[in-house]
Amino acid sequence: MQLEIIKINDKAKKPKPTDESTLGFGKYFSDHFFDMKYTADKGWHDARIEPYRQLIIDPAALVFHYAQEIFEGLKAYRGKDNGVYLFRAKDNFKRLNRSAQRLCMPEVDVDFVHDTLKKLILLDQDWLPKSRGTSIYIRPTMIATEASIGVRVSSEYLFYIIVGPAGNYYPEGFSPVKIFVSDKYTRAARGGLGEAKTGANYAASLYPAKIAKDKGFSQVLWLDAHDMKNVEEVGTMNIFFRFKDELVTSPLDGTILAGITRDSILRLTRDWGMNTVERKLGIDEIIDGLKTGRLIEVFGAGTAAVISPVGELFYKETSYKVGNGKVGELSQKLYDEILGMQYGEKKDPYEWVERIG
Ligand SMILES: *Cc1c(COP(=O)(O)O)cnc(C)c1O
Repeated sequence: MQLEIIKINDKAKKPKPTDESTLGFGKYFSDHFFDMKYTADKGWHDARIEPYRQLIIDPAALVFHYAQEIFEGLKAYRGKDNGVYLFRAKDNFKRLNRSAQRLCMPEVDVDFVHDTLKKLILLDQDWLPKSRGTSIYIRPTMIATEASIGVRVSSEYLFYIIVGPAGNYYPEGFSPVKIFVSDKYTRAARGGLGEAKTGANYAASLYPAKIAKDKGFSQVLWLDAHDMKNVEEVGTMNIFFRFKDELVTSPLDGTILAGITRDSILRLTRDWGMNTVERKLGIDEIIDGLKTGRLIEVFGAGTAAVISPVGELFYKETSYKVGNGKVGELSQKLYDEILGMQYGEKKDPYEWVERIG
């Protein structure tokens, strides 16, 4: 496919945030974005990197009514050597295609969008902050744009990628969070959309997340929708439990997202000789493990935080401390290892890291 690149005038460029310590997340977007259109007869076409702008979309577009939308989330990093790095980016586009199948949306050409992403990042690389922990956050998105409010599969789509600087997830240092175990609301049911990265799953999670926030917890630990028993994910991350004799995470059986960070952790810990197991894990076994000391570490895993150590679980009106409330040894080791790879410093035997500029 042809890619047209329309560069912004220097005068139209937006002022860049100057303080890297207050970047936060999702607040700033760079000067360009990528977009392409899909119609049933032409397939994907009009692929363009162009100045960032508003979209013009019909109010009847199917996405607004029936939530036919998918997205991805990944980052580009600035190494100490001033290089620009991507981490497993193709895996994100492959996952986008799996989400597309579930939502009856057209797949994209992984190599084409990956090449295009590299061009976009390099074009806007002045937006890439330099300090450790900062990045350019990348948000590929696909929406159903056909103007029609009959419930059916759209015949037209827009795919776009927006990028923007993101701050360090841990401005006050790497530290454990308090988690609310939801025994009333669930995120995704068997046979539903749980394994697709789609806004609909997030819409379902907002209310329980708000309740947890109001009670002083930063994330919700989701249990399975059928029995309210087995753990699934935490907030917007996958979750790991380190027992004395095994490292456990939930299996990919349709209701959880196949995280790329999750996959990296499985690979690393197995190569380090750990007994890493994907299996169902009941909340009772977790509480029991915390009481007896068999369960020593809990952490979330996702692109935004990389590792999010859990210091406390709150379940059925009772609070349980995890470990000594400090960052666990494995959490720290994984965080250092993965971050080190992402910034192009640590050896990468897996070909996960790509220096693009
Ligand atoms: C994106 C996401 C994750 C984490 O996936 P990564 O590829 O590791 O960033 C986990 N759970 C949900 C629900 C997600 O949307």
